[in-house]
Amino acid sequence: MTEITKTLCPYCGVGCGLEVSPPAQPGKATHRDSQGNPVWRVRGDKSHPSSQGMVCVKGATIAESLDKNRLQYPMVRESLDREFRRVSWEEAFDLITKRIQTVRFTQGPEAICMYGSGQFQTEDYYIAQKLLKGCLGSNNFDANSRLCMSSAVAGYIQSFGADGPPCCYEDLELTDCAFLIGTNTAECHPIVFNRLEKYHKRNRKVKMIVVDPRRTPTAEAADLHLAIRPGTDIDLLNGIAHLLMRWGHIDAGFIDECTSNFSAYAEVIRHYSPEVVAHQCGISIEDLETAARYWGESQRVLSLWSMGVNQSSEGTAKVRTIINLHLMTGQIGKPGAGPFSLTGQPNAMGGREAGGLAHLLPGYRLVKNPQHRAEVEDVWGLKRGQISPTPGMTAWDMIVGLENGSVGLLWIAATNPAVSMPDLKRTKAALMRSPFTIYQDAYYPTETAAYAHVLLPAAQWSEKTGVMTNSERTVTLCPAFRRPPGEAKPDWEIFAEVGRRLGFVGEFAFANSAEVYAEFVKLTRDRPCDMTGLSHEQLQINGPTQWPHPEAGTREESSTSPQPLASSPSGKRLYTDLRFHTPDGRARFGAYHSRGLAEPPDPNYPFVLTTGRLYGHWHTQTRTGRIEKTRQMHPEPFIEIHPRDAAVLGISDNQFVEVRSRRSKAKFPAKITKAIAPGTVFVPMHWGALWADNAEANALTHPESCPDSLQPELKACAVQLVPATVE
Ligand code: SF4
Repeated sequence: MTEITKTLCPYCGVGCGLEVSPPAQPGKATHRDSQGNPVWRVRGDKSHPSSQGMVCVKGATIAESLDKNRLQYPMVRESLDREFRRVSWEEAFDLITKRIQTVRFTQGPEAICMYGSGQFQTEDYYIAQKLLKGCLGSNNFDANSRLCMSSAVAGYIQSFGADGPPCCYEDLELTDCAFLIGTNTAECHPIVFNRLEKYHKRNRKVKMIVVDPRRTPTAEAADLHLAIRPGTDIDLLNGIAHLLMRWGHIDAGFIDECTSNFSAYAEVIRHYSPEVVAHQCGISIEDLETAARYWGESQRVLSLWSMGVNQSSEGTAKVRTIINLHLMTGQIGKPGAGPFSLTGQPNAMGGREAGGLAHLLPGYRLVKNPQHRAEVEDVWGLKRGQISPTPGMTAWDMIVGLENGSVGLLWIAATNPAVSMPDLKRTKAALMRSPFTIYQDAYYPTETAAYAHVLLPAAQWSEKTGVMTNSERTVTLCPAFRRPPGEAKPDWEIFAEVGRRLGFVGEFAFANSAEVYAEFVKLTRDRPCDMTGLSHEQLQINGPTQWPHPEAGTREESSTSPQPLASSPSGKRLYTDLRFHTPDGRARFGAYHSRGLAEPPDPNYPFVLTTGRLYGHWHTQTRTGRIEKTRQMHPEPFIEIHPRDAAVLGISDNQFVEVRSRRSKAKFPAKITKAIAPGTVFVPMHWGALWADNAEANALTHPESCPDSLQPELKACAVQLVPATVE
């Protein structure tokens, strides 16, 4: 077989196109990994509009993870202190459906929870919503996107009346000023950064501002690096707004015609004079003025952000405060300009489209909205009122629900909360108490598998056909190109089979994932994310396509096969008509004062710990920990400490440091570097118990969350440092 499959990298939200071909090809030496094992060939797909042939080390080495440590068969055990035993799918399905029925009738549907993942394809997400929110009547579906970008979702909805990043990657190469805040794009979204950096280097008039307490590789490339104190983002953003207002760099016409609530915002920013802001943020007035000048004097300003903004107890306020700057200067709805959140997971966007958070329904609908519920009930063939009007439990609510006994069944799929959730000691203790946990994943072991009663083997990206949407709303079909190992099944098929066995036979009578997708897109009709012009067939023919992409009716009447929809409307940018999805069509300013960190440093815990990611690793290393090259790039965790702090504490390079927070402690070798500001320390979040002893960043973090997005503040907590003996 020499066939090349065009697909998508399943790591990050950049969504790079890949071309994959089998290890053995006529006339060519068998393709092998660094240990001599045959592996699929992977290279960048030059025809993919988002990545144009580029891939980073994660995408380039992905094939090496396909066959390692795969979970191949269903397994069960009676209690967590027993060994797993292999069972048939029949036995596993029987056990699961009986348990669901028991919990449903003894504790109610609201005791059934599912925690999913941005690794899902859209079809997986969609069927999970239909099963939980539709058929079972429980809105307790949340995904790891809650930990990643739910503040961006809430911010867009509050400011624009609907979710959805308004920009596209082309804007990276059209802007005059790129404002990057809370994003280490160079390491976490490398191909987005490649595009921006190349353009920036070619065009010296283009300005790049990076706001980050660390001097990251992203900050190294900037014209201006603002190393603000953690938790002072809103001070900075309001301070820039104050100067723009003072200098008259505002678009009064846009504010007047296209926005609301400006006067409340103007009243807030009045208090953020340069003197106050510089002091608060720990930067110079000159740097603050430079940032405001770069913004104010640019024709086109593009903001990029990710988890440094979103993972905050004031995450939604931060997102809206970024958007405010765009609204006050009219920097939206045109090439090279706009607020642009970068998603972490490969299909977190698809999750948003399919309603994959506890407060959402498919098609960018809200659980709380009666009309939205009715529209979904109609397509799902449900009785009126069958979808609960109450938003379900978020990821952290499920942990609390395990603690207080309100969760009777927890189904975790394609994610690893025993590493990625905050306050891991508490998280793990709660998982230990779970009466019944199903863990569905492609890999075994993982840290979370230790807390499961049932293990279900999932087919992953390469072994199932489905759709993923990247950060710029580009939808790509990812066809299966290999057989799943053992008895692994696509996630959506597992959910659908459970649905049928619970009696919802017609609701889950799908022959394949193309039929699932066809039903899903019906629920996007006339919604902001209208994709009614898309299908598996059309994506196969036309290639990756951005939404909105409504049905265009351009197909030839006489044709019996799908034709390219070249003339179909497809949205590079949202809001080009300067009309928004709010009831009055105006974008809303959000007026926020800075509240700072939920857990600021104090004399007992004098340092701020910030957590983040490294170039070669992905999340909890479920894949990258099994790939030689990426493991060698980052063999162990570490803690970055400023030389001044290290000198005061008597810590030398590579010396182990015990880091203590109010919740737990962990130990890391010190990396003494001026890349981190004094008073702040940095630890990467990738290491769980499987990969290193006592080096879990999230053992230290806390679950305090944004009141609007309910996203935990994983980015900052107060810690103390104690030098330990060299080990
Ligand atoms: Fe994959 Fe993201 Fe790297 Fe692209 S930038 S190859 S999507 S990990």
